[in-house]
Amino acid sequence: MRAVVTGGGGFVGSHLCEALLRRGDTVWCLDNFLTGRPENIARLGADPRFRLVRADVTSALDIPGPVDVVAHLASPASPPDYHRLPLETLSAGGRGTEMALRLAQRHGARFVLASTSEVYGDPGIHPQPEDYWGNVNPVGPRSVYDEAKRYAEAMAMAYRRSLGTDAGIVRIFNTYGPRMRPHDGRVVSTFVRQALAGSPLTVYGDGSQTRSFCYVEDLVRGITAMIDQPGLSGPVNLGNPAERSVRELAELVLTITGSRSGIAYRPLPVDDPARRRPDITRARELLGWEPLVPVDAGLRRTAAWFASLPRPGPAPGRAAGSPHPLRAEA
Ligand code: NAD
Ligand code: UDP
Repeated sequence: MRAVVTGGGGFVGSHLCEALLRRGDTVWCLDNFLTGRPENIARLGADPRFRLVRADVTSALDIPGPVDVVAHLASPASPPDYHRLPLETLSAGGRGTEMALRLAQRHGARFVLASTSEVYGDPGIHPQPEDYWGNVNPVGPRSVYDEAKRYAEAMAMAYRRSLGTDAGIVRIFNTYGPRMRPHDGRVVSTFVRQALAGSPLTVYGDGSQTRSFCYVEDLVRGITAMIDQPGLSGPVNLGNPAERSVRELAELVLTITGSRSGIAYRPLPVDDPARRRPDITRARELLGWEPLVPVDAGLRRTAAWFASLPRPGPAPGRAAGSPHPLRAEA
């Protein structure tokens, strides 16, 4: 297949490009590196089936030759990123989604939208099934992301209903793994970076809020399963139902890294959802998908990758320059 991955230079997108190449597809990665990094895809450049197009997805898009799949991932995704880039986030979800849908429509391609558990907002029911409509503050600081994704979902469904575009939606829950930016501000990258540097782990609020963390390799398997189900609109939740409080996550990261960092409590951000856990019945039944990587194993791999970065910072309780234990696994 010939696939276009918008946001292919980002954390999830780069893993998706890699997975598609691995199975023999040709991949056009479209990215403006607003929040992604060229190094995420640097080693893919040697593959003759990989092409990078530096472009803004909010501009008119075209790709020479046939296109079988458009996977639309381009959007800032970390809360500090979308707070910093509110207008860009709205237009990636709005105009960017429309441009990606037009590309798919023109080529008769399968279209998969990377939506988010944020469409459920601060959910009133738990766990969250896809037929729950959500509880989003439309004017709060998270709204630029949440509402952009809700609008993107509405647009995908409108193209499907009115133009017959083969559009499908996956709602992605918190995902982590190698290639997260150490300073992207998300909880896993922040805690791992802090633990390896010997700095206190910054838990927001009292840490009782929960999230369900999915390893990136599992997520990418779910996205490709959705790509491979022409006709399926979803939405389909993709996430790991293993739910943990943020405080439990901090303790797990400390254990896995062997860090002596403590925990520092900081104020809870406005509108921070209290609980998050996917109901993945639909993904199991329609895609035959479920996550396989337990959180502690995924965190070990993630921490090993962070420890392998050129300057992870001094390790706690060890002489400067001595290797961090996780480096051995990297
Ligand atoms: P990321 O920031 O690492 O990747 C997003 C990519 O999109 C970046 O490479 C960025 O440069 C690119 N991009 C942004 N605006 C663009 C534009 N206008 N034109 C072209 N490229 C643009 O984030 P991620 O975690 O990899 O998320 C990927 C997708 O998955 C996003 O759509 C996000 O909303 C969704 N998602 C991710 C998670 C998660 O936990 N990682 C959870 C829910 C949904
Ligand atoms: N969080 C935290 N410390 C941090 C970063 C995040 O306690 O340094 C909390 C945050 O308040 C939220 C959870 O961790 O309750 C997940 O945050 P993240 O930004 O990773 O994702 P999201 O809020 O979008 O689910």
